[in-house]
Amino acid sequence: MKDWTTLEPDRVRLLSRHFTPGRGGQKIKHVTIHHMGGVGGLDFCWETWQTREASAHYTVSPTGEIGQAVWDRDTAWANRNLDSNQKTIAIEHSNSGGPEQDWPIGEKTLEEGAHLVAAICKYYKLGRPVSGQNVRFHSIESGGFTECPYHLRPGHKYHDGYIRRAQYWYDQMTSAAIPTKKASAPVSDLTKKYFTDFITGYLGPQFDAIQEIWRQLRGPAGTGWEQLGKNDKGQNLTLVDAVAAIRHDLARIEKKLEER
Ligand SMILES: [Zn+2]
Repeated sequence: MKDWTTLEPDRVRLLSRHFTPGRGGQKIKHVTIHHMGGVGGLDFCWETWQTREASAHYTVSPTGEIGQAVWDRDTAWANRNLDSNQKTIAIEHSNSGGPEQDWPIGEKTLEEGAHLVAAICKYYKLGRPVSGQNVRFHSIESGGFTECPYHLRPGHKYHDGYIRRAQYWYDQMTSAAIPTKKASAPVSDLTKKYFTDFITGYLGPQFDAIQEIWRQLRGPAGTGWEQLGKNDKGQNLTLVDAVAAIRHDLARIEKKLEER
């Protein structure tokens, strides 16, 4: 998936037939889970659907690549149920083996599919994924016409894990914007930035004070104060020079007084 937040798929290859533009005035209410009954991705499904009266919005390949064949705003012919089709976003999951292996589905396909369910639920504000509510199944939507999505159906081997992952991703995506409060900074948080902030915040004002002392002693540009007078080289006196000059003058005055 290129962008989970905006639902931008890895690849788009739109069907030219076997879907209905628009949604007949209906709103998106749920997603529907399918398995392909075959091994492939967007192109495999596209070839099939161009020649067969069927379609779905998204396809998840064996490598987890997510393709789009029908735009979300249009009605895919997925569930053999017009009302359901108009309210759903259909997701096709590739198998990783055929009938000899009893139609397994690979880890990557299940994980990306579950993540996509979460992303759709978030994007269309359908709430946290719940099986039978905002997550539907072809077998049930079609009134028992098909066994699809087979192992992903409720009560079958991939169902519970898949829904858990969809909920996990939904929680991840919806809590990301809310900063979590930490009781204290763990050791791993003692980063360079931490020390930089510490020095700037704690020692910074003291550095400023030290600089001010330097400035007072040596003048604004480190070249003495004009109002303290000049030495015999024509340079402004620093505070130290001025004090030394005063002591010198004082000693001279004292000496003169003694001489009287
Ligand atoms: Zn199906």
